[in-house]
Amino acid sequence: MHSTDTSGSKGSWKERESALLASYAMHSIDSLGRVCSEPEHPYRGPFQRDRDRIVHSSAFRRLSGKMQVFTGDMGEYHRTRLTHTHEVSSLARTIGRTLRLNEDLIEAMALLHDIGHPPFGHCGEDALGECLKDHGGFSHNQFALELVTKIEQRYTDKPGLNLTHEVLAGQQFRSDKATSQTQMLEIQVVDAADSIAYDSHDVDDALKLGLLEWEQLDGLDLVERAKRLVPLEQIDPKLRRSLLVHTLLDLQMGDFLRHSSLELDRCHSMSSTAVSQAAVRLGMSPQIEQEKQQLEEFLFEHVYRHERLAQVRDKAAMRLRQLYRLLTSHPERLPERVRGWSESWGIERAVGAYLAGMTDRFCDDQYLLLVEMGRPSGIDWS
Ligand code: MG
Repeated sequence: MHSTDTSGSKGSWKERESALLASYAMHSIDSLGRVCSEPEHPYRGPFQRDRDRIVHSSAFRRLSGKMQVFTGDMGEYHRTRLTHTHEVSSLARTIGRTLRLNEDLIEAMALLHDIGHPPFGHCGEDALGECLKDHGGFSHNQFALELVTKIEQRYTDKPGLNLTHEVLAGQQFRSDKATSQTQMLEIQVVDAADSIAYDSHDVDDALKLGLLEWEQLDGLDLVERAKRLVPLEQIDPKLRRSLLVHTLLDLQMGDFLRHSSLELDRCHSMSSTAVSQAAVRLGMSPQIEQEKQQLEEFLFEHVYRHERLAQVRDKAAMRLRQLYRLLTSHPERLPERVRGWSESWGIERAVGAYLAGMTDRFCDDQYLLLVEMGRPSGIDWS
């Protein structure tokens, strides 16, 4: 790993960071740099550049065609993987700015965090995991790393986006979360923002789509807490849902900031490395954490396992499995670029990566074309 050249310009991101960031933030000047060292940019710091590289990747653009929880057949109101990603980024940056952490790094990691999701959300992930069970399995967090280190290519003559060590380490942490002990504060912020965003927004989308009725939320501690703060019952029903959702967001964000600030008060003058090694954990108060857990269990039972979603899931899993079977046994139907991957990774992982990169609609179209109509694909989405 070579160090990024951080010498040079004055009055730039370096001065801004040194004036604004806390000691325990990950300062760009301390970055371990990129695998292929690159000259410093005249006015953007290394994490700003990473953010832009992620936004300009084709995998990022395809997030707009990937479902978060609800599918395109259910209308156009609800979140896609792309709008969820922006909502996570927005919440995470608010936390980062308030706690004086590195907002550019947080933004880059937030925009990257779901880039590896296959079509059809978690059911697509389960179907690919099953197809690839004897070939390394499938994890969207790991696939995000493969996308930005092997598949996307833009900035050097080598594969990958040549992102900084810290952005890649943040995504690696998401992959190894169960076993990882040390972590930067910035990645903890992205993780928390992800969870706050999907809990609140899944309530919003499920109410709007009629998968949940308002009364079903009665008795949930976090919802009851929101009702004590704002007069939800007295408000115009049209506004009630949005008021509930932003109160749920405010409640969780406020609690996370208060509780985490107390933790950070003990870290005065510590560096980013020191707080990671000391396993400092940002988070909510135990009470709100418990109430959030109750909401998540409720969503799991009443939304994610809803009959309307189960039908979508079964259909999507069947389509992915059949496409996988067909393409691994007929590699000549794959785009040339994917056939190239199979020389290094084997046909199974190459087909897995091809399928994982698809949007929901492209996957449906390919299923129709290749499986139902029996035609060659000939389309290269890269
Ligand atoms: Mg997410």
